[in-house]
Amino acid sequence: MSHSPSEFGPLTYIPRCYGYSEKGSVLEVYEPHSELPQILIMGAIHGDESLSTVLLSECLRSIQDHELKSSVILAANPDGVVAGTRCNSRGVDLNRNYPTDNWSPDPVYYRNRPGTPQNIALSPGDVPGSESETKALIKLILEIKPSLIVSIHGFLGCMDDPDASSIAKDIAQRSGLELVPDVGYATPGSFGSWCKEQAIPIITYELPSQEITEMKRIHIPILKDLLTGRYHKMLV
Ligand SMILES: [Zn+2]
Repeated sequence: MSHSPSEFGPLTYIPRCYGYSEKGSVLEVYEPHSELPQILIMGAIHGDESLSTVLLSECLRSIQDHELKSSVILAANPDGVVAGTRCNSRGVDLNRNYPTDNWSPDPVYYRNRPGTPQNIALSPGDVPGSESETKALIKLILEIKPSLIVSIHGFLGCMDDPDASSIAKDIAQRSGLELVPDVGYATPGSFGSWCKEQAIPIITYELPSQEITEMKRIHIPILKDLLTGRYHKMLV
């Protein structure tokens, strides 16, 4: 059954379960019915950045089933979204839990708004890849072998692509966000570091802190183009 597109109605596209969170929540991926090279777009690996979930959901709800050409994860950390926390239900920053050469057992310190001290401590996990959200996402990625991953975060307001790919350049130009080779500080065990080690291109799309209507006006058309295949021809 195909759904009737509506940015504001229910989400009727049927996802696939790719695993379960530490708390038992279903981890879901929305998949295209196409053979095109896949882009995987994901939101909310940090649960307190769930605006990414809202934006991706509105995109998904505004297109027909057959228009979807990328895989979409609305929330890679669903328990964090429900709790409103950066971490998962066990206090782990999933974006520092990946089995990479640079993984560190040291606590992760972050700030939740600009200008405040970076002193909120989270765990990177007992061992690399300790969390079921991490294990499930790794298994999914090794299975679908995306040609590009776009991970949406907030609210540093930049487009992080160490390769400065033509897709990242185009999105940076359209969104007015600065294209940067890194976010400016060390991120041991991050999802991005893991992707790099797997030779999977990754763009970290850091939404700006911006008024919500303006945010939707600028970023939804870009995300929709990523979902519907407009950028597939730029994949190398
Ligand atoms: Zn983040």
